[in-house]
Amino acid sequence: MAEGLRDIPLHRGLDRILIDEETLQARVRELGREISEYYGDRSPLLVGVLTGAFVFMADLARAMAMPLRVEFMAVSSYGQATQTSGVVRILKDLDRPIEGEHVLLVEDIIDSGLTLEYLIDVLQRRNPASLRLVALLRKNKPRSVPARADWVGFEIPDEFVVGYGLDVAGRYRNLPFVAVVKPDAVLGK
Ligand code: 5GP
Ligand code: MG
Ligand code: MG
Repeated sequence: MAEGLRDIPLHRGLDRILIDEETLQARVRELGREISEYYGDRSPLLVGVLTGAFVFMADLARAMAMPLRVEFMAVSSYGQATQTSGVVRILKDLDRPIEGEHVLLVEDIIDSGLTLEYLIDVLQRRNPASLRLVALLRKNKPRSVPARADWVGFEIPDEFVVGYGLDVAGRYRNLPFVAVVKPDAVLGK
């Protein structure tokens, strides 16, 4: 195997690998098959939420056996903190209307569920033919909002994770696996 980020578990900022590369890839392929079957001959528009969903989106789109389109939205996140402010702001909107489209919203992780709740609300108002949600990860924790997703890759413990698109302070998005960071890294030390 080529040298590179697979060797990063040795990095001092990481505590442990939560989901290894092989497990991630197998699950994403499975989701691709399930979601393709669900849509059948309706071609969906995949809407990825930047930046965290970019890796999942790329793999999921290629695991779907159908022609489809992709677009991205960007919303405000926590910045360098790890607690949600509950305030969501659209930083980059879709380029075109989605009225009459079969929209599949692609998210990296559901934590409080507030981001997804807000996005569902915004997109639903634009009258898509359908709106479905897939999240790679969902934290197992009590929530004030339902955190409904039609497909979830993995339910994970309530810990701060990085890799496969997810960052802490902008780093680790290119890890091919999902890892738990050490508390010091989360605090930006
Ligand atoms: P929410 O709390 O609104 O469900 O989560 C909003 C966003 O916070 C997620 O889309 C993700 O970008 C970020 N987030 C939540 N939990 C984690 C985590 O454990 N690790 C990382 N890197 N980002 C997270
Ligand atoms: Mg996200
Ligand atoms: Mg982030």
